[in-house]
Amino acid sequence: MDIPTYTPAEAPVPTGEIVIERGSTPQQLGPKLNRTAADVVRFLLQQGEMVTATQSLSDDMIELFAVEVGAEISLVDPGEEQEVELQKVLDLEDDVDVDAGDLPHRAPVITVMGHVDHGKTKLLDQIRNADVVAGEAGGITQHIGAYQVHRDGRELTFIDTPGHEAFTAMRARGAEATDIVVLVVAADDGVMPQTIEAIQHAKAAEVPIVVAVNKIDRDNADPNRVMQQLAEYDLVPESWGGDTVVCQVSALQNLGIDELLENLLVVAEIEDLRATPDGRSRGAVLEAHLDMGRGPVATVLVQRGTLRVGDPLVAGPAWGRVRALINDRGEQVKEAGPSTPVEVLGLSDVAQAGDEFVVAPDERKAKSVAETRERWHREASRARDASVMSHGARLEDIFAQIQAGEQATLNLIVKADVQGSLEAVTESLRKLERPEVRIGFVLRGVGGITESDIQLAATSSATIIGFNVRPGRQAREMAEVEDVEIRTYEIIYKLLEDIESAMVGMLEPEFEEVVTGEAEVREIFRVPRIGAVAGCMVQSGNITRGSKVRFLREGTIIWKGEISSLRRFKEDVREVAAGFECGVGLSDFQDLKQGDVIETFDLREIPRT
Ligand code: GDP
Repeated sequence: MDIPTYTPAEAPVPTGEIVIERGSTPQQLGPKLNRTAADVVRFLLQQGEMVTATQSLSDDMIELFAVEVGAEISLVDPGEEQEVELQKVLDLEDDVDVDAGDLPHRAPVITVMGHVDHGKTKLLDQIRNADVVAGEAGGITQHIGAYQVHRDGRELTFIDTPGHEAFTAMRARGAEATDIVVLVVAADDGVMPQTIEAIQHAKAAEVPIVVAVNKIDRDNADPNRVMQQLAEYDLVPESWGGDTVVCQVSALQNLGIDELLENLLVVAEIEDLRATPDGRSRGAVLEAHLDMGRGPVATVLVQRGTLRVGDPLVAGPAWGRVRALINDRGEQVKEAGPSTPVEVLGLSDVAQAGDEFVVAPDERKAKSVAETRERWHREASRARDASVMSHGARLEDIFAQIQAGEQATLNLIVKADVQGSLEAVTESLRKLERPEVRIGFVLRGVGGITESDIQLAATSSATIIGFNVRPGRQAREMAEVEDVEIRTYEIIYKLLEDIESAMVGMLEPEFEEVVTGEAEVREIFRVPRIGAVAGCMVQSGNITRGSKVRFLREGTIIWKGEISSLRRFKEDVREVAAGFECGVGLSDFQDLKQGDVIETFDLREIPRT
């Protein structure tokens, strides 16, 4: 075959730094460097990279070509250049001429990080439960992605999604929302890989770390060992002459929580956190999802100014006039000042965690900025995904493709329960990319795994990843027929571990969760001495007492556990078959509603071929 050779053209390249968007195609790159698309394609072919003129190029390829022609380039994310123009439309006021010392103090914003199972969630729950003000108000707290607690007349804001994935995803999108990191380390387990990662993330963000040595109630707890290990990472406790605040706590037994909060207030004081409550409000989106009844809902953290009902708002590609603001206790409020988390209703679209939100000068400007961004997002992701999708492989085939020395691409469809976790999963997966394997996101979306996802996976050789979501019965059956693999997870760490293993040909046998029974909730009763009971109709299989169970709402897992009480009429029974009604006791989970689905399942190992 006659391979055309690339001969360096003589045409001079533009001088100075040339801005190139990531994921540019040869057709876009060539002309910017005074070359043709064919020049780029031919050159890359000589380097062993087969690309077409309309295919997105990797950063390496773009840089290689720039070096070849002697051009000085800077790579930017798509839309970054234009974003500067949009900021002008929004006409943001600057802080420069405000004397910071005169501004009022604001509450510290705190993120809890640490290794899986070290007690982050438990700690966040205890801190929330310990709040006096919430207790007085009736104690009904709402999970909106962040909450505030009150202590000695002051407030502390906690980001309610534990783990460093959320923190990193936010930072990757330019949001600096955290003032203090609480690093949870289990006293019986010590410093683990994610502990180290959390330290690195906090240091990179220059955020002070307060250590909570947790599980000190355990017999084998060894706080001293933990402190020694931490000292190796430059976190030397104050009691040893260092400057790291270390608190010993038991989230389970509610020990040391007060002291931790007091220490956090001290650190906040040293940080001298201030913000103006005046002017148009700005801040970060912490969490966003589509609510069936209320439309797009975003939890935002106000960082300056005061956000009010009626304000015209832009958050990433979403915009709207604020219809309602709801605080962390589920109450409607008229306004929210600095460091306050609130749910915002009235946006046009689901924003992404880490997006900046800004109150625009007027509604028209809000709309035009959001729509322009939307268009770039669409173009950028289409360019990126189109190039990888066309020659991608499924999870079980990926290793074979890598071994064959091809540029392998793993095609994935990722579905998650909320926008925030979708972002976190995607960002973390992207980090697994290596020169020899790329990841093609055929589709990313919020919500349960549907039949159209299965269809798409079948036609694009993709594997489906569900995070806190499940396929419904029809989707499951279709996946079997179409031979589409669905892997579902509830822990990001586990998900990443699996994908990494697949890339080195060591995918662990999967335990298939075989659904054994399915029942629909018809009504919720209260029974004396037993509590809440869900009246259900069994629709397939059997519902058996003691079996593993999950509760699903529109395909999203809302609870997991075991069936502890099962009744027919007034009798306790062991099993109820399809076509019969039954009552399922809800000892731990009270929030079930009519229309939710109760699914029981067994674990069975799937043999690998
Ligand atoms: P996360 O993965 O870091 O969010 O960890 P979780 O908060 O889910 O906690 C993991 C497990 O450790 C759960 O079973 C908790 O009940 C348990 N746990 C959390 N804190 C403590 C503690 O202080 N003492 C003991 N004994 N167990 C704890």
